[in-house]
Amino acid sequence: MLILDGLPDRPLNGKTPLRVAKKPNLDKIAEISVNGIMDTIAPGIRPGSDTSHLALLGYDPYKFYTGRGPIEALGVGLELKPGDVAFRANFATVDGEGSIFDKVVVDRRAGRIADTEDLVRALNEISLPIEFKVAKATGHRAAVVFRGLFTDFVTDTDPKFVGEKVKRCKSDRAEVAEIINEFMQKAHEVLEKHWVNELRAKNGLKKANAILLRGAGVMKEVPSFKERFGLKLKVISATALIKGVGKLVGGEVFTPPGATGNKETNLNAKISSAIKSLDSSDVVLLHIKAFDEFGHDKDFEGKVGFVEKLDVHLSSLLELDFSETCLIVTSDHSTPVKVGDHTADPVVISIAHEDVRRDEVTTFDEFSATKGGLCRIRGMDVLNIAFDLLDVAKKFGA
Ligand code: ZN
Ligand code: ZN
Repeated sequence: MLILDGLPDRPLNGKTPLRVAKKPNLDKIAEISVNGIMDTIAPGIRPGSDTSHLALLGYDPYKFYTGRGPIEALGVGLELKPGDVAFRANFATVDGEGSIFDKVVVDRRAGRIADTEDLVRALNEISLPIEFKVAKATGHRAAVVFRGLFTDFVTDTDPKFVGEKVKRCKSDRAEVAEIINEFMQKAHEVLEKHWVNELRAKNGLKKANAILLRGAGVMKEVPSFKERFGLKLKVISATALIKGVGKLVGGEVFTPPGATGNKETNLNAKISSAIKSLDSSDVVLLHIKAFDEFGHDKDFEGKVGFVEKLDVHLSSLLELDFSETCLIVTSDHSTPVKVGDHTADPVVISIAHEDVRRDEVTTFDEFSATKGGLCRIRGMDVLNIAFDLLDVAKKFGA
């Protein structure tokens, strides 16, 4: 399953990037496929990349979504158990007198600090009444997990805007909020006097003297892909959020060398690693992120250029043995350049296998796909269709 994150678009002067790009291999895939359009969650629902990937893997996001915190935490390598509360976090600069909650955020990225290893280590030495763990993510980002807090409601401490005071965490269980607020205060004290920050101050850089928590979520009991389908899943991605979804459903997660999650990524390494993975895994999800970045940046030409760049590497997918392999090419959502964000416009989907009822569609784009034999399906249907083609689906009824 090749996921072209955020590639589908709305027409600008009648054309989408997929309509403009030269992409002989994607078109060839459409030609040997049954094609259609897909609402990854449901018609009119704007998908996040996390909720849509859950649906594409056959997990109802309304049932299994944990919020972003636990998924990002899993994606950066933290272990989570049901009942753990997890957040995404930012190193930030705060200023003012009194406790952390009296202080005002002056920089939500702490001068774009990137070398946070020593700060993370110091935070992990804080003493709290419960077990917790901080992990470094890219740049000024991190993830924090608090073990076994079992709560239904917990809020962020990140005020999201510069000039505002750090927020107190609230929860339906007072002791949960108390522990997280104690962490906020102790983290501030440890960071304020840390040698990394003293050195930064001496060099005229902003201190990373606070850690702000957002994306609060509670880890759920999620049955593994293997338990549910009896099949082995591998997720290939360089994006923490998608790696986190792979971990959440108990899949193997892999980032090939040179894969970056942006337009500089090593496409060849990603595609050959996906093909190689078919030897040891039953379902391989290959995630390509950069289209979504171009969409958020409102860069039409960027999307066109990246489609063409990717297409060159797709010839190897056409050499798969379609008598025993099912190839699905689709997206998790549309990110139209005019909007600069995810929309609910359905995505393109092509399913190639020896036994599919091929249709008249010969180009991979938003308009042609509407004429295909799949018509309009939902994200949760995709694996069922593939499993049926591969004769591994269970019969419903007698
Ligand atoms: Zn996405
Ligand atoms: Zn996006």
